[in-house]
Amino acid sequence: MRQDLLLNNVMNSIEHNLNFIRREIGDQAMLVAVSKNQPSEAVMEAYQAGQRVFGENRVQELLLKHPVLRPDIQWHLIGHLQTNKVKYIASFISMIQSVDSLKLLEEISAQALKNDRVIDCLLQMYIASEETKFGLDEGEVNDLLISIRQHPLSGVRICGLMGMATFTDDTDQIRKEFRGIKSFFNKFRSEFFREDPSFNQLSIGMSGDYLIAIEEGSTIVRIGTKIFGNR
Ligand SMILES: *Cc1c(COP(=O)(O)O)cnc(C)c1O
Repeated sequence: MRQDLLLNNVMNSIEHNLNFIRREIGDQAMLVAVSKNQPSEAVMEAYQAGQRVFGENRVQELLLKHPVLRPDIQWHLIGHLQTNKVKYIASFISMIQSVDSLKLLEEISAQALKNDRVIDCLLQMYIASEETKFGLDEGEVNDLLISIRQHPLSGVRICGLMGMATFTDDTDQIRKEFRGIKSFFNKFRSEFFREDPSFNQLSIGMSGDYLIAIEEGSTIVRIGTKIFGNR
């Protein structure tokens, strides 16, 4: 490789970080690059390094970035979504990882059908010990799945579960929380998705805990800080 290109690569830290993380996770999990609070230039740098899947947690920010960035980017929504905002993203969103109510799921389905598409969704489960995080508990997921078994929603595909562990240095606690959501995943899959192979994703793991998450069965990791630096 030419020396100037080599130097350029070494100095491009987003590319460097991406390559480092890719080597660590191998083909065990899909990497969602979480670009919230990062400028479009940073997204483009990651794009140039081959990244195509990006995660945003706010609709407003997503709506600013989506039209100015490349059309082959797959955008995942990973933050709380208000029902009245679904219509703004339904035409292009690749996956909504943060579904936390039946009402929201019904609206996603309705808006997807208006756009002649089916939107991939994950149900967000509450697994952390903090009180501030959104998500469903085991009983609520169960009720939701019973309800859509009775009244199927043809505009959505339930692809699995998403969860965030407690923000702590206690790796035993993090591991315990990941094991918990993995066992819910197995249980719901065998109770509700025996005939439906699309329920196959477990989105756990962020910058501080993705290696533990992969050991515990993650199929999607959502990493921001470790790629882009501090927000
Ligand atoms: C911000 C965020 C991430 C990424 O967090 P990092 O610690 O920066 O990797 C992952 N998932 C969700 C839901 C987030 O809000």
